[in-house]
Parts: sequence; C-alpha cells; structure tokens
Amino acid sequence: MSTTNDTLANARIAVLGYGSQGRAHALNLKDSGLDVVVGVRKGGPSWNRAYTDGFAVAEPAEAVRGADLVAVLTPDMVQPAVYKEAIEPNIKPGAALLFAHGFNVHFKQIEPRKDIDVILVAPKGPGALVRSEYERGRGVPCIWAVHQDASGQAEAKTKAYADGIGGGRAMIIKTDFKEETETDLFGEQAVLCGGASSLVQAGFETLIEAGYQPEIAYYEVFHELKLIVDLFYEGGIAKMLEFISETAQYGDYVSGPRVIDASVKARMKDVLKDIQDGTFARNWTAEYQAGLPNYKKYKQADLDHPIEAVGAKLRARMTWLHPTTAAPAESLKK
Ligand code: NDP
Ligand code: MG
Ligand code: MG
Repeated sequence: MSTTNDTLANARIAVLGYGSQGRAHALNLKDSGLDVVVGVRKGGPSWNRAYTDGFAVAEPAEAVRGADLVAVLTPDMVQPAVYKEAIEPNIKPGAALLFAHGFNVHFKQIEPRKDIDVILVAPKGPGALVRSEYERGRGVPCIWAVHQDASGQAEAKTKAYADGIGGGRAMIIKTDFKEETETDLFGEQAVLCGGASSLVQAGFETLIEAGYQPEIAYYEVFHELKLIVDLFYEGGIAKMLEFISETAQYGDYVSGPRVIDASVKARMKDVLKDIQDGTFARNWTAEYQAGLPNYKKYKQADLDHPIEAVGAKLRARMTWLHPTTAAPAESLKK
C-alpha cells in the first residue's frame, strides 16, 4: 500500500520507543511500504517485541544514525535524555525530528539543533486504535504541525508521515506546537482524566456519606458513565438527550449547572493559566526529577479510594468484561 505523497518513499524512518504509539506507528509505516528501524534499549521488553514483529531493531543512537526521519515515541519525561544522548550527536543535517506531543519542544526541555526539521503528528486516539483502524483500511484523525523547517520539506514530510500511519485516510488538521501542547494538557487535566475521575469520586462520596449502599452508588455514578459517554461519542449531547428519559433530561438541565457552575469554570481558567505560563510544566519536571514523591502519594490515594474496592468486586461479576474466562461458578448456579 503506498502513501498518497511519496516524500518519504526513499527515506529511512527510525521509531524510538515501541509502546502504545511507537508500535502502532512502526507497524503502520511498514505496511505503508516505508523503511522502518525501531530504536529501543537492549534488554528492555520492547526489544524482543519489535524483533518478533519483524523489525530491524537497534539501540536508539544506532537507529538515529542514517535515519532521514526520527520519531520520538518514548514517554515524554525521558525524551530530553534520549535527545541529548542518542539524537543530538547522531541525527543527520536536514533530517526530521518528529514528536506525537509538543511538550518538550514547547516548554524548551528539548532545544533541537537548527539544521533539522522539527515536526509533529499526533493521532487523536490510543496506539491500539491507530493500529486496528489501519488494519481495517481506515485511519485515526491526526493533528500535525511544523515547528522548524530546515530542509524546506518539513510540511511534506509531516503529511507523508501522517499518511503513512493512516491519518490521511481519515482527516488531518493543522495545528502548532503551542496549541497542541496546551490543549492536550488542559483536556486531560480539567475534563478527561482529572475532571472525570474527581467528578465520579465526589458523586460516590456524596451518596455513601448519605447512607446509601456502595454497590448501588457505584452503578449510579460510575458504571453508567460509559453508556452516557458512548452516546456523546456517537452523536453528541443531542444523542444523549434523545436516549435518556424526560425526568433525566429535566434533572440534567436544572442540576448540571448547579454542580458545574461558574466557579468551576473560573478554576478551569486557573488550570489553563498554569499550563500556559509554564507553571505546570516546571512543577511536573521538578516532580519527575525528584523521583515522583507526590505523584506516588496521589496515585496511591486514587487506588485506595473506596470506589475501587467495590468496583473490582462488581466488575468480577460482569461476565462480558471477561470474555475469555469462564463465568464465575456462582452465576451458573442461578
Ligand atoms: P509509552 O509509555 O507506551 O512508551 C513506552 C516505550 O518507551 C517503550 O518502548 C519503552 O521501552 C520506551 N522507554 C521507556 N523509558 C525509556 C528510556 N528511559 N529510554 C529509552 N526508551 C524508553 O509511550 P506512549 O506511546 O504513551 O507515548 C509516546 C508519545 O506519544 C508521548 O510523547 C505521548 O505524549 C504521545 N502520545 C501518546 C498517546 C497515547 O495514546 N498513549 C496519544 C497521543 C500522543 P522499554 O520496553 O525498553 O521500557
Ligand atoms: Mg497528553
Ligand atoms: Mg447537562
């Protein structure tokens, strides 16, 4: 299968990191007929996985030597060291350095050499979906950006890469490193991960503190969230409203804005300001360098929240969540 633009037809692409995004990008690029080498640490779990998947595998520095495009797909916090040690001394002048998230370039944790292109292609989905959609002949929409154009070909390379991973089959949207970085951080903090988990925990605590059973509370404020989000995803808020009862709709209209009110929005703006002025990036980098003391504490508190224990117990009875294991014996007795 060829890409719609042949800018990378004779290029060697080094994919550094073989995790969620790395594996999907590498496999899709290879199936698009491009020349891919995977750069990972010797002895790490990724080395064997990439080798078993049929790739040429090398240590990152070795993979970068001779590559025309280097995709940096290791976790964000290890990218500055990977850049310093493996990329900066080895990348060819005029080659392209590609990211899937703009964090390190935008916040200057990486200051790329001036003689290379610096570009971004970020699929709007997890790696597994980037791969499975590609295998079905489709693709996941991608956003793309050019930060630095040393070769005069940076935009063409970016689009060819987006095509190569399947994004061109769906849709590609132009952005810049600042917009991608700031909106990605805001979305995961205020709404998707931080906002949603805190909303659920607060709803659960409210019902428990009022004396309701944890099992019932779990179903009402957590389990059923998926049904609602699926409707959002398929047809917007309009589809959700179409499928819920009139009573649920009226309650939504009068109580939703009482919970998520102007004060919440004001605090969302504070969160955005901390992202924009670099406060979040500074704090997160310092936290990472200190060995993640607060991160570990916060994570443990989430894992110890009472909703987790009741959820684990209830999910064990939801046979459709475990399609490969036999149903628990008790459920067969009924
Ligand atoms: P992963 O956490 O899945 O990356 C893991 C890979 O990085 C493994 O191959 C691992 O190798 C390697 N790695 C880990 N630590 C090191 C190290 N110290 N030195 C060298 N290699 C290392 O990353 P993601 O795919 O989640 O993220 C990659 C990029 O994509 C990030 O910039 C992220 O922001 C972005 N992104 C991620 C999305 C997602 O859905 N996850 C969506 C869109 C963008 P080993 O096996 O040897 O440990
Ligand atoms: Mg993110
Ligand atoms: Mg509402």
